[in-house]
Amino acid sequence: VKFVYDFTEGNKDLKDLLGGKGANLAEMTNLGLPVPPGFTITTEACKVYLDSGEEPAALRDEVSAHLDALEARMGKKLGQADDPLLVSVRSGAKFSMPGMMDTVLNIGLSDKSVQGLAKQAGDDRFAWDSYRRLIQMFGKTVLGVDGELFEDALDAAKAAKKVTVDTELEAADLKKLVTKFKKIVKTEAGRDFPQDAREQMDLAIHAVFDSWNTDRAKLYRRQERIPGDLGTAVNVCSMVFGNLGPDSGTGVAFTRDPASGHQGVYGDYLQNAQGEDVVAGIRNTVPLAELEQIDKKSYDQLMQIMETLENHYKDLCDIEFTIERGVLWMLQTRVGKRTAGAAFRIATQLVDQGLIDEAEALTRVNGAQLAQLMFPRFDEDAKVSQVGRGIAASPGAAVGKAVFDSYTAVKWSRSGEKVILIRRETNPDDLDGMIAAEGILTSRGGKTSHAAVVARGMGKTCVCGAEELEVDTKRRRMTVPGGHVVEEGDVVSIDGSSGKVYLGEVPVVPSPVVEYFEGRMHPGADDADELVEAVHRMMAFADRKRRLRVRANADNAEDALRARRFGAQGIGLCRTEHMFLGDRRELVERLILADTDTEREESLKQLLPLQKQDFVQLFESMDGLPVTVRLLDPPLHEFLPDITELSVRVALAESRQEPHENELRLLQAVHRLHEQNPMLGLRGVRLGLVIPGLFTMQVRAIAEAAAERKAAKGDPRAEIMIPLVGTVQELEIVREEADKVIAEVEAASGAQLKLSIGTMIELPRAALTAGQIAEAAQFFSFGTNDLTQTVWGFSRDDVEASFFTAYLEKGIFGVSPFETIDKDGVGSLVKLAAKAGRETRPDLKLGVCGEHGGDPESVHFFHEVGLDYVSCSPFRIPVARLEAGRAAV
Ligand code: PEP
Ligand code: MG
Repeated sequence: VKFVYDFTEGNKDLKDLLGGKGANLAEMTNLGLPVPPGFTITTEACKVYLDSGEEPAALRDEVSAHLDALEARMGKKLGQADDPLLVSVRSGAKFSMPGMMDTVLNIGLSDKSVQGLAKQAGDDRFAWDSYRRLIQMFGKTVLGVDGELFEDALDAAKAAKKVTVDTELEAADLKKLVTKFKKIVKTEAGRDFPQDAREQMDLAIHAVFDSWNTDRAKLYRRQERIPGDLGTAVNVCSMVFGNLGPDSGTGVAFTRDPASGHQGVYGDYLQNAQGEDVVAGIRNTVPLAELEQIDKKSYDQLMQIMETLENHYKDLCDIEFTIERGVLWMLQTRVGKRTAGAAFRIATQLVDQGLIDEAEALTRVNGAQLAQLMFPRFDEDAKVSQVGRGIAASPGAAVGKAVFDSYTAVKWSRSGEKVILIRRETNPDDLDGMIAAEGILTSRGGKTSHAAVVARGMGKTCVCGAEELEVDTKRRRMTVPGGHVVEEGDVVSIDGSSGKVYLGEVPVVPSPVVEYFEGRMHPGADDADELVEAVHRMMAFADRKRRLRVRANADNAEDALRARRFGAQGIGLCRTEHMFLGDRRELVERLILADTDTEREESLKQLLPLQKQDFVQLFESMDGLPVTVRLLDPPLHEFLPDITELSVRVALAESRQEPHENELRLLQAVHRLHEQNPMLGLRGVRLGLVIPGLFTMQVRAIAEAAAERKAAKGDPRAEIMIPLVGTVQELEIVREEADKVIAEVEAASGAQLKLSIGTMIELPRAALTAGQIAEAAQFFSFGTNDLTQTVWGFSRDDVEASFFTAYLEKGIFGVSPFETIDKDGVGSLVKLAAKAGRETRPDLKLGVCGEHGGDPESVHFFHEVGLDYVSCSPFRIPVARLEAGRAAV
C-alpha cells in the first residue's frame, strides 16, 4: 500500500483516504489554483499507528521520498540553516471536526535556521515571531505543555512593553520570548525543544495521529455520530506567510452567504497575521470587501478563484487563504456549512444557474433541515437580551417562567403557567417536569445528555450545556454572566435551534414554511419570501422524483384535512381507540364488563352510530384517497378505572359502612382483567376475538359510513386493518366475520363498497410467517413501534426515560431504535416479511405506520425495501415527502 500522496496525486473523491482537507487541497492543485506544494499521509497510516502504537514500517521512507521531492521543488531543504524550507503539519479527517484536532505551523525553525529565515525574508521580527509560534504550538500540541503558560508569558511581554497587540512586539522582545518559551518547554516537558527539523516533523505527525483519540475528539464524534475508527490524515504543506508585513495577511471566505445563499463577498481578512490569529480573535478582522483597497490584484484573483471553485464544486464553498507579500495562496477549501434556510435557497439558486439539476438539488437539503424550518421561531426583529448560549439540542422557540425543579414545573403548569425547566442536568426523575415545561434548559451536558435525548424524543425545545449560566437549584435561581440573577418565576426565552438563551419574553412568530403548507402563504405572492419559494420548488422536485407515497396517521377530520394540505395521499393509520375516549369511555367500559349478551349488545348498539359518524367525517375529509381504519387495539386497562383508585374508593365506602355493591363488582372485574404486562396482553386482534361483536360493530360502522358517502356521491376508499396479528388463523376468523357484515351492508345499501382487509405486521411471528398471513391479507402495514418493542424486548413506554441515555452514551446505538429503524434487526424482519408477503400475493400493498414512517433515515430504508407508502403524523408529512424524493435519486 501507498501511505503518502503528493497533492498532485489526489482528488476530491478520496476523502476516506486523504481526509477532507487533503482531498480538497489535491483537487485545487489539479485545478491549477495556487496551493503551496505538499503531500498527505493517509488515514490508513493513522489507523496502523493507532492500532499498533507504531507507524507502518514503510512510512518513514515514503515520507522521506516525498520530502526530497518537495525540497527539490522548492529549492531549499527542511530546516536548512541559511534558507530553511518550513512546513505546516495539519490534521484532516474525512468529516470536519472543527478545532478538535491538531495543527503545527512553521516546522523547520531552530536556533540556527531562524537566522537564515530572517536574512532571507529581510525581516528579523517576522523570523522570531514565527519561531515563537512554533515553540508555542509544538509545546502545546506535541509535547503536551499547558498552553496558558505560553499565553501568560506572551501577555507578560506585552505588559512589560506597555503594548496591547502582539504585532507591537519587536524582534528583540520576541527573541527574549523564545528563550522564555524554551525554558517553559524544558521545565514542563522535561526535554529540550527539538532542534532537528525532521524530528520536529515526525513528532508533529505522531501528535496529529494521537489527536484522533483525545477525549475531546471522541466526545465530539459520539455527539456527531462520526465513526471512531476512521482515523485522520496528515497534511504536510510548505509554509507561506501571512505575517510578513502589511502586504501580507490571511483570511477566510464563503463563495456565497451561508445564511441567505446570496452571492456576494462574504469573509474576513486580517493583515499581517497567520491563520490561528483569525480563529483566536486576537485582533479584529476587516470585511473581505476591504481587501480590494488593500491589495486589488490579490482581491481580483481571489474573486476569480472563488468563482472557479463554485463552478467546479457546484456548491457553496468556504476557503482559507493567505497572501504573502502580495502573492495569493489557497490553504483550504470545502463545501461549506450553511443554515437550513440557506440550504434550500442555495439548492434552487444553483438549479437556476444551470449548475445542478433537480435530482442533485435534492441531495443538497434534507428532512432534518426542513423540520427545523417548520418550528415556530423567535421574531428576528424583536429586541432581545441574550445572556448565554448552549448546545442547540432540540429545536423550537420556548418562552416561560423559570422553574428549577420538576415538582414546581408540574404544579405551575397545572395552574396554566408556561414554564421553562432549568436544571444543571436532568435525570429520569425530571420526566414529569420536562413534560409539563415548554422547554428545558441545562447548564451541563451535550447533545446526548439525558435532557437532550428525552427532549428530542418528546419534540420539546431544549438548550443544554449552557455553561456560563450558574444554576443553583437549592436556592432556585440562576446567575447569568455579568451577575444578573434569574429568580424562580422570572420569564426566560430559549431557542433550541441556535442554543441561545434570553431574558424576558421574546415574541414568537409562526414558521413561514408552515404558513405555506397550511395554504396561508403562497409562493409567488407578494408576501412570499425567498425561503417559501425555495421550499415550494424543492417539494415539487421531491414529489416528481419519489416512488413512495406518503400518508398520514390521523383519526379525526381536522388532522386529516391538515394532512391533506401538507400533501398526504391518504390515511395510513386511523387509531380507532382515540375515538373511544372522553364521554364514550364509559360505554366501552360497560361493553368490556358486560355479564350478559344483552348487556353487551346494548352497549354495541349505542357505540355503532357514534363510530359510523366518525367515519363519515373522516371519509369525507379524505374523499378519493385511501383511509386505513385500524380496529380497536390498546390494552383493556386503558378503558377501565384505575385499580388503586377504585380499591381506595371501595375501602373508604366499606369503612364508612356505605353501600358499595356496584364498586365492589367493578373492582372484582377489574381485578379479573388486570394484567402484569398489558402491552403483551389482551389487546389488538385478541380483544376482537374475545369480545364478541366488537370488531363486527366497527366493521359495520365502516361499511355503513362508506355506503352513506357513496350515496352522497362521495368517493370513500376505506381499508380495514387488523392489529397485533401473530398468526394467519386469527386473521382468518376476523375476516370471515367481517366479510359477512360487509356483504350485509352491501346488500342493504345496494352499493359496491370495495373494502379491502389487511393486517399490521408488528410481531416477530407475524413477520416470520408473513407468507402465510398474506393468504388472508390484502395489505400489510408494518407497525414498527410494536415490532421494535417486541424484537428488542424493550418496553416502548419506559426505556427511553430509563436506560437509553446510558446506552446512547456508551455508543450501543447512536440513536433510539424507536426513532430510527434498526435496519439490522427490526429492518431485516421488515424486508423478509415484505418479500414473503409478495411471493404469496404479488399485488400485496405494503406500508409502514409506526413512528419511523416520518423519520428521514428510516424513509430511505423503506424506499429501499420496496414499500409502497409511509404513513406519519401530519406535521412530518413534508419531511417524509422530501426524504422519499431524496431516497429515489
Ligand atoms: C405500531 O405499533 O407501530 C403502530 C403503528 O401501532 P401503535 O403505535 O398504535 O401501537
Ligand atoms: Mg402497534
